[in-house]
Amino acid sequence: MDLINYAVFEVDNNRYLYDTNTNKIVEVSIECFQALNALGNCASIEQLNRTLPIEFLRSAHECGVLQPSRFVSVSPPIENLADTEQRLSEGPESLVLIVTEDCDLRCKYCVYGEGNYNAVRVHTSRKMEHQIAIRATHSFLSQQEHHKQSFVCFYGGEPLLRWQLIENVLQSVTQDLSVSPQWFISTNGTALTEDKFATLVQNRVMVRVSLDGPQEVHDKNRVDVRGRPTFDRVIKNLKRLRDYDLDYYHKYVSISFVVADPENLDTVNHFFKNDAIVCDIPKVCSQINNKELLNQGLTTNMRREMLGKQRRQYTKHLTTSGRKSRDHPFNFWWAKYIIAIRDREIRSLQPNERMRSVCVPGSHRVVVHPSGKYSFCIQGAEGIQIGNAETGIDAGKVLKILTDISNVLSRFCPKCWCSRFCPICPAYFSDDKGEFSEELLVAACKDIRNHIKSAFEAFIYIAKTDEKALQLVVPSEELLLS
Ligand code: SF4
Ligand code: SF4
Repeated sequence: MDLINYAVFEVDNNRYLYDTNTNKIVEVSIECFQALNALGNCASIEQLNRTLPIEFLRSAHECGVLQPSRFVSVSPPIENLADTEQRLSEGPESLVLIVTEDCDLRCKYCVYGEGNYNAVRVHTSRKMEHQIAIRATHSFLSQQEHHKQSFVCFYGGEPLLRWQLIENVLQSVTQDLSVSPQWFISTNGTALTEDKFATLVQNRVMVRVSLDGPQEVHDKNRVDVRGRPTFDRVIKNLKRLRDYDLDYYHKYVSISFVVADPENLDTVNHFFKNDAIVCDIPKVCSQINNKELLNQGLTTNMRREMLGKQRRQYTKHLTTSGRKSRDHPFNFWWAKYIIAIRDREIRSLQPNERMRSVCVPGSHRVVVHPSGKYSFCIQGAEGIQIGNAETGIDAGKVLKILTDISNVLSRFCPKCWCSRFCPICPAYFSDDKGEFSEELLVAACKDIRNHIKSAFEAFIYIAKTDEKALQLVVPSEELLLS
């Protein structure tokens, strides 16, 4: 049976249809909206013929929408070992070293918190040996001639608990290699103390500090192992770093924040715009997790109503301030999809067209676990291995992962309206043993579709209110760890 994928949106009392096959957005009447909405996001031509007014079907036919689609194929982007080796031969652009699985904090929504999430590791005392970090970094940097910029990221747990290792890696690269990667540390900020400033500044290390907003918001969830609040320590360290070297601070320091409670959005926004220490450095909103949250007392930041509220604030910022979207703290969530929708190609899918978003594991990023095993996602399980620090990336393993992913996705994506924009990553639906789980996939897909639906609503709102403002939508700075 030929199926047609579509979505409908309601924006400011007007209704719209997005047609997956043609990538077109058309305005529809309230009757058509209700009928299409009742059918879901996928219908047969017979169902549409039975349900929609004949005049609408005629005009839809004339502009090519709601025609049987040429299903998107989810065959792997690469199908043999030689091509996989070729694709991997240029090396990834970024290396992430999980230098410890330990942390001095116990944030209540932490992905590694005991019992918070399914299928994700918990805090442990595992640490990476210095030699593993140095070997992996040297091996990565020896493959970088094709990339304009290479990134080496220190990640945890809390990476600053392994300061000696970080210093050793920086020193070994400076001494032994003639390359200068962009260094990056993602930290909770409590150990960002003055003794480290000279090294950070000298090596131009990008530092991303987690700060959720004003004290009452931050301290609600971000507490240390003894349950004590951390806002004062983090803001004090940021202030000292700012005082130490203002130029470095502006260029290399940024804030990562999580919105755990939608009702705090206004307070958080106000704080980031006005606080003297953080108002003039970039902020990115990180996601709690796309996987199932077991602790129902917490919320995920992908909740529909929260997205709706953010969307309204974000589109208002764009259409009334005349400023670039990057000035808005929530830009990270919206910009890349709005840009993709704005710049989409209006053309029908080709037979067996591949889903663009299925990436080749290890071609963009390699994550090194404390054991020296390689994977390709920070929050993803160590179980999905693609190699190790001794022997490098194993193309055979990468090809098998691609084939397995495609087998799972081919059962779902051809019936999905958002396949032309979907950012699915295997880490969203793999458990801690590296097995792909349909249950995790279904939960992740729900979040993805909600998010992309919100981006369509934002796009339509901006396009209708002030089309020129669409050009103000620019991506957030590169989020290395997203
Ligand atoms: S600082 Fe990061 S790793 Fe540590 S508990 Fe908080 S969210 Fe988890
Ligand atoms: S949301 Fe899920 S079903 Fe839809 S395209 Fe993405 S992976 Fe496929």
